[in-house]
Parts: sequence; structure tokens; C-alpha cells
Amino acid sequence: MPNYHIRTYGCQMNDRDSESLACLLDALGHTRAESEETADILLFNTCSVRDQAERKALGKIGILKKLKRDRPDLVIGVFGCMAQNLGRSLLDKLPHLDFVAGTDRLHEIPELIAEALDGRNGLVSTDTSEDMPTVLTGHERGQVTGYVSVMRGCNQFCTYCIVPYTRGSERSREPEDIVREIQTLADGGTKEVLLLGQNITAYGLAEARESGALDPQASPFANLLHAVHEVSGIERIRFTSPHVRYMNDAFVDAVCSLPKVCKGFHIPFQSGSDRILKLMNRGYTATEYLDRIKAIRARLPDCSFSTDVIVGFPTETEEDFEATRSVMQKVGYDMAYIFKYSERTGTKAAERLEDTVPEDVKLARNQILLTDLETGAEARNQACVGQERQVLVTGPSKRNASRWSGRTDANKVCIFEPTPGMQPGDLVRIAITHTTSHSLFGNVM
Ligand code: SF4
Repeated sequence: MPNYHIRTYGCQMNDRDSESLACLLDALGHTRAESEETADILLFNTCSVRDQAERKALGKIGILKKLKRDRPDLVIGVFGCMAQNLGRSLLDKLPHLDFVAGTDRLHEIPELIAEALDGRNGLVSTDTSEDMPTVLTGHERGQVTGYVSVMRGCNQFCTYCIVPYTRGSERSREPEDIVREIQTLADGGTKEVLLLGQNITAYGLAEARESGALDPQASPFANLLHAVHEVSGIERIRFTSPHVRYMNDAFVDAVCSLPKVCKGFHIPFQSGSDRILKLMNRGYTATEYLDRIKAIRARLPDCSFSTDVIVGFPTETEEDFEATRSVMQKVGYDMAYIFKYSERTGTKAAERLEDTVPEDVKLARNQILLTDLETGAEARNQACVGQERQVLVTGPSKRNASRWSGRTDANKVCIFEPTPGMQPGDLVRIAITHTTSHSLFGNVM
């Protein structure tokens, strides 16, 4: 069988899609190529979140034109968000492509490959459906952390975001199917699961609304956390990305009371200015955001937070930016993805709002937030010196293989000397001896 290589751009959802597709192709008898150069089938899982991500993928696939001319039997396929977003027009830009598969069509890729191997090309499959598409549940063996997709799509329509157009409307998997997939992972030795959904706290809400069973006091996602918590062998549960609008008291109670739910939360806030939040259509105010942080922190004083922030959104003034800075200081994040706003073709913000903030102002604001973040994270990490942390061992450190690394419950990287017989997936206690703004260092106890 022809061998294949998948290159993945973008988010953890794309990583998960590539992993499950690889497992499906393996099961069908394809083998993995050692490199792109030796592959018979080249697959690109693409991202559309930023124009730059699209340009990068287009550039990479564009230069394969000559290779395809020299090796006409080479199959080149594109899938993921950019494939969904650009659809058939990708074939005009990249006529050497054999197929384009949309975000709901992952399961059709083996068939598209077979057709392309038979000499048919220019194939396009980007239909979306209101139902949950076929979910691929294969996982790589022996992983400490398994990614599990629990829902697709997003109904939020933040004005800067392309996701609702590329991933469609929210559709959630049945809890029993998710639990079954996680039990299989646990049986194979996985200790931690990362539950994935673009708007994960809205898990199950669209279905509850459709069936007339929507209860604003309840949280189907909290119920899912309870169900996953029961899976034997799983020690830790993480999830991304929640949205403050759906973080009701039932959600807060679940994340605070379930011991396996990790106490490091990634909660995007995007801006601290209510005026900008409204322009972004985020659906909450800065006070509402801070209220939810306070509710979690009141019950978990040692928890940590990370976030996503955009600087330089259209019309953002110095005052708006200072409001963002103030939220960051009030919460005290350990980590943040800080983005300079850039127009995304196809979004409401790009259609309706002029990109008014000059690039040098965006850059300066970005730098100020990064400096604040580093200073705060360094001080918080420093306060861990002399304390113990439970760490889930992931294996040899990337920078220095003689040392090993793992993550604390609050998702901080911890570096230490391994002890004889230590295995990835072990839970160990580490005495913290020194820190940087990014990592903790210590000794196994
Ligand atoms: S919640 Fe907003 S930012 Fe997140 S995926 Fe949905 S539309 Fe995009």
C-alpha cells in the first residue's frame, strides 16, 4: 500500500484530526512515510484562523507543483479549515491538488485517496451537515495524554473569528461514546485526557435547546466531566476552550469539586474593555468574566489561569487597552496567547470595522502585556520554591534528554532528574528548588 505523510497546521483540534486520520489510514494498510520527500501521499491539515496561516500552507503546497509534475502518481490532498473555507477555489490556486476535503469529511479521505490513486483528481468534498459528522476514534498507542474531541463547531460568532464558518454549527457527541473512547485510552495506559471543543462549555446545549430541555441552571458539560471522572485509569482531566458565557454555577461546582479535573484553567478573555468585548460579540462584560474567575478562585485558591488576548482590535483606544491590562493584572495569568489583531477575510469584523490601530501601536501593546505577564508568572513560580508538587511524568526533556519533564496539576512544566525505573505516565512528587517564568525545577521526593 502507498505510504503517507500528514503535515498539520493550527490548533489542538487539528492535531487530533490528523492523529485519528493517521490511525484510520494505518488500519487500512497504509504505512507512514519517513519524510515528506519519500511519501506517496502528501496530506495537509490546514488552519484558517489567521490569513498568515493560510498563506503559509498555500505557499508550502504551491511549491509542490514541480514535484507533482516530476511524479504524477504522487497524491496531494488538503483537508481542515482552509480546505473548508476556500473549497473548490483552492483548485484554481493549486491545480496540482488531487483533492480538497472539508472539516466534516475526514472519514471520506481514504476514499478520496483511493480515487486519486486511480487517476481521478480535482475532487472536492466540503459539504457540511447539521448532524454530528462521523467521528474517527483511533488514537496513537502509549500516549500519556490523549486528546478527545467532544464536539464540533461554534455558534458564538465572535466578529473576528472564522471558526463558525469553517467548523459549522455546534454539534456534540453522545456522552456514552466519549466515555467509551476514554476508557479505551485508559486501558491502553493513557493517564490524562484533554477534552476538545471550540466552545466546550456549550457542550450539549444546542441539542438540549432543540429538544426543549434547556435548563439554564444545568450544564451538560459539567455532567460530561462527572462521567469522564468515573473512568478508571484516568488520573487527570483537562479541557479547552471554555467560554465565560456558559460557565454557570453547575460548571464551577464540577471543576472545583472533581479531584481529577486539573486546576489550571485556560479561559480566553480577549479584551478587558466592555466596548471592545461588545464589538467582538463575546457576550460578556469584564466584570462578568472576573466574577467567574473569582467564583473558581474562592474554592481553589491555588489554581492557575491562562488566557487568550487580542490587542489592537479596531477602534481600541489607550483606555480600552489599559482595561485589558488591568484584567490581566487582576487575574494574574501564568500564561497567555497574546495576538495582535489582523483582519480575517470572511469575518464580520473584516466586513464592518476598519483596522484602525497602527501596527507599531499593536506591537507596543503586545510587548507591554508580555512584559507584565512574564513578571507576574516569574513571581508566582518563585513562590513555589520550597513547596511540593505532584507531577505527571511525560518523559525526557526536549532540551536536555538527561533530565525529564512533566506537568503539574496547574499545567506548569517541571524539570527534574529521573529516578531508576521511572516511566512516562508516572505520577511523582517533586520538591521545587528553583524556577524561571516558564518552568519549575526540582527533585523527586
Ligand atoms: S467562541 Fe468565538 S473565538 Fe471561540 S471559536 Fe467560537 S467564534 Fe471563534
